[in-house]
Amino acid sequence: MNAITAPSETTPLQRSERQAHIVKALEAHLPSHALLWNAEDTTPYECDGLTAYRQRPLVVALPENAAQVQAVLRTCHQLNVPVVARGAGTGLSGGALPHALGVTLSLAKFNKILKIDKKARTATVQCGVRNLAISEAVAGLGLYYAPDPSSQIACTIGGNVAENSGGVHCLKYGLTMHNIVKVKGFTMEGDEITLGSDALDTPGLDLLGIAIGSEGMLAVTTEVTVKLIPKPQLARCIMASFDDMRKAGDAVASLIGAGIIPAGLEMMDKPMTAAVEDFVHAGYDLNAEAILLCESDGTPEEVEEDIGRMSDVLRSCGATAIAVSRDEAERLRFWSGRKNAFPASGRISPDYMCMDSTIPRKRLADLLLAIQDMEKKYNLRCANVFHAGDGNLHPLILFDANDPDQLHRCELFGAEILETSVAMGGTVTGEHGVGIEKLNSMCVQFSAEENEQMFGIKRAFDPQGLLNPGKVIPTLHRCAEYGKMLVRGGQLKFADIPRF
Ligand SMILES: Cc1cc2nc3c(=O)[nH]c(=O)nc-3n(C[C@H](O)[C@H](O)[C@H](O)COP(=O)(O)OP(=O)(O)OC[C@H]3O[C@@H](n4cnc5c(N)ncnc54)[C@H](O)[C@@H]3O)c2cc1C
Repeated sequence: MNAITAPSETTPLQRSERQAHIVKALEAHLPSHALLWNAEDTTPYECDGLTAYRQRPLVVALPENAAQVQAVLRTCHQLNVPVVARGAGTGLSGGALPHALGVTLSLAKFNKILKIDKKARTATVQCGVRNLAISEAVAGLGLYYAPDPSSQIACTIGGNVAENSGGVHCLKYGLTMHNIVKVKGFTMEGDEITLGSDALDTPGLDLLGIAIGSEGMLAVTTEVTVKLIPKPQLARCIMASFDDMRKAGDAVASLIGAGIIPAGLEMMDKPMTAAVEDFVHAGYDLNAEAILLCESDGTPEEVEEDIGRMSDVLRSCGATAIAVSRDEAERLRFWSGRKNAFPASGRISPDYMCMDSTIPRKRLADLLLAIQDMEKKYNLRCANVFHAGDGNLHPLILFDANDPDQLHRCELFGAEILETSVAMGGTVTGEHGVGIEKLNSMCVQFSAEENEQMFGIKRAFDPQGLLNPGKVIPTLHRCAEYGKMLVRGGQLKFADIPRF
């Protein structure tokens, strides 16, 4: 098979020739219904949850078994064609944004739970299984899978592994990386790999640790073995109101400082509370500047003690109102607003861009107040809902993507939030990944040498750089140009990705 050279600019004719070439090569391995290339078929794949950036792939492949995944990768490797793996497409940083001259490899058909091992308390599932489907499948055994992204009804475990996803309960039970024992998959060259093992540790380098959170750049996951934990006997949630953002931020640090590890510790500011209350009627205090949701789970005795201690700390930090869920229905109602915060934002703005930085907990109020100043500077609204216990903020900048000037201001606003987070001792991403969204901000976080070391790892897995290229790690050129070539008008300047 002859390799296709990807020209930096392609004419529509060159594009269609390239497309025909790829389809023909893949048809040797996949049934025709598993390949899409017409515009109306590939358009649904043109973006992920970062909807401001869109790009149709040349071809979408929907393999049904591991051998077909391997064949797609081998074929694309031989043809020098970029591949972007895709789970449910709920990612918020553009990680699954297609390559204009490449193949989007959808893992949607990998949706089977393969094995539930009650004794080992693990489940082995295909990568396209939805996060929540795992807990649903083992609920009868009194078990569940702890990491719970708010998108858990839709997002896949393969996507969770790629992003090292977090969720409300990760403060106590750990992120995806703490709850996975093994992944199987294929490298870009089509070599089968198994990282981790059925035991809790493996000899040699921690390649599982490197793969988790690698945003689909090192290998394609097809199978994941997750840890399961017993469902707690009881969970109760405190909803606390604060009339001042700083007091709420200090309460978060004080709770952790008091040696309490809540099962969940989330914060919402006033604009977000108003948006969600209008949507789900969770009973939130609309006068509060900030609301904290603070959960305890365990035996009834443990929960009672925790709730008492947490209430004391919250009161001493100036909470103006405290409500404790009296039953499961009320607990779920308290959480319903938090869980629906992103969709609620869609009701008050045509578009939103969700930032995802992590800062030391004690700086929460500082960053939230700085964001209020940025709202004035960029003349855009911002609503905040986030994993306060982890110091992981999610400012949702509200804008209209159809207005290029608003999009540009939104991008600058987001970049300033990330830069301020780094200056406060934090990071540019907590759980949503870098994708394309935070590529430029990586230049602020890491030196050229550090980025080069990350490229070194990428090259060890994918020497030709064909798997999800142009994302996550900025090139030296990009960082040198940083500040001069910020993204504009929805057209990302992919220094490294050939466009047409
Ligand atoms: C409403 C909403 C709420 C959210 N809440 C949270 C939250 O609380 N916590 C959180 O962490 N995230 C959250 N997210 C973000 C998102 O849901 C997660 O990042 C999720 O893990 C993405 O899974 P996915 O299957 O949709 O992956 P996709 O979006 O399809 O892909 C994400 C990345 O993973 C790669 N990838 C996907 N599958 C594979 C595979 N099998 N092998 C190799 N690479 C792969 C892709 O190439 C891409 O880089 C939220 C998103 C939305 C829309």
